[in-house]
Amino acid sequence: MKYEISITKNPNPKAKPDPATLDFGTVFTDHMFIMDYDTGIGWHDPRIVPYAPIALDPAAAVLHYAQEMFEGLKTYMTEDGGIRLFRPDMNAKRKNRTNDRLCIPLIDEDFYVEAIKALVEVDQDWVPNAPGTSLYIRPFIIATEAFLGVRPANSYKFIIILSPVGAYYKGGLAPTKIFVEDEYIRAAQGSTGAAKVGGNYAASLKSQVKAHEMGFTQVLWLDGNERKYVEEIGTSNAFFVIGGEVFTAPLAGTILPGITRDSVIQLLKDWGIPVREERFTVEDVFRAQEDGRLTEVFASGTAAVISPVGELRWKDQDVIIGENQIGALSQKLYDTITGIQSGKLPDTHNWTVKL
Ligand SMILES: *Cc1c(COP(=O)(O)O)cnc(C)c1O
Repeated sequence: MKYEISITKNPNPKAKPDPATLDFGTVFTDHMFIMDYDTGIGWHDPRIVPYAPIALDPAAAVLHYAQEMFEGLKTYMTEDGGIRLFRPDMNAKRKNRTNDRLCIPLIDEDFYVEAIKALVEVDQDWVPNAPGTSLYIRPFIIATEAFLGVRPANSYKFIIILSPVGAYYKGGLAPTKIFVEDEYIRAAQGSTGAAKVGGNYAASLKSQVKAHEMGFTQVLWLDGNERKYVEEIGTSNAFFVIGGEVFTAPLAGTILPGITRDSVIQLLKDWGIPVREERFTVEDVFRAQEDGRLTEVFASGTAAVISPVGELRWKDQDVIIGENQIGALSQKLYDTITGIQSGKLPDTHNWTVKL
């Protein structure tokens, strides 16, 4: 696909936020990328325009049947002032797998990365440079056809917005409290669990609210059939260090194939630590804790990179993991991945891409 991306500069750029007060996803940059799709024409008119609300017909399909997908990745300022993306090629592939699952027309993977780069370049002054900060990239696609029947839409908008985000952990890594959800489920075999689609997240809110009300940071999801096998933690992948081996749920259709998950697995293999991508039960985890073999639990995802778990509750059992301290492996993975992202450590896997 060969496209020219037209650029209309924002005549009223905003003041940049103070990096010390940045949190997640509340401030947006001066521009956005938009491209339209219409059946018979294909994807067309890629453009970078001033960030602004978009007009939608109230009958737009996305508003009724949730034909929507999204992605999330980050770009970082390196110490020499350069700007790097983390594994955008993997992100482009995952996006098309989600599109396919939701019957949204695919987008050329190279062009997708080009569009991200072009937008970040226009708003490059927005990439924050304080330690731990980054520019979050949110590509998404919505079905825009005004039509109330249930079928794939004939028109879509692909949009990319950018948001400068603060350090996830203001005072270093902090352990979280996780509630094992045995009432609601996130995904069942054959559902959209492996796709990044908005509908999955709407369906998860009830459980999140319940966990928050009980004083927990997040939920640990169990499998949809038996409420037995460990799947994910909130919107991140879950890892358990048991007897020197690292266990994580396999990519078997119900969990999201995280790019951070993949990076964690590759690093563990580099370090000679055995990784087991296989099904295991929450009971296995609690038994390992009783036997003193459960040494660390952590979650992985783009937003926090690595998030250590200090406490788990399942039904009426509570366990404290690693004395509620940051595990050595969690810390090493966090330092290594963020070190590669910020250019402080050598990028031996060629994960970063210069703008
Ligand atoms: C996005 C996401 C992840 C993490 O994926 P990354 O590519 O590592 O950010 C994990 N689980 C769910 C449900 C997600 O939506």
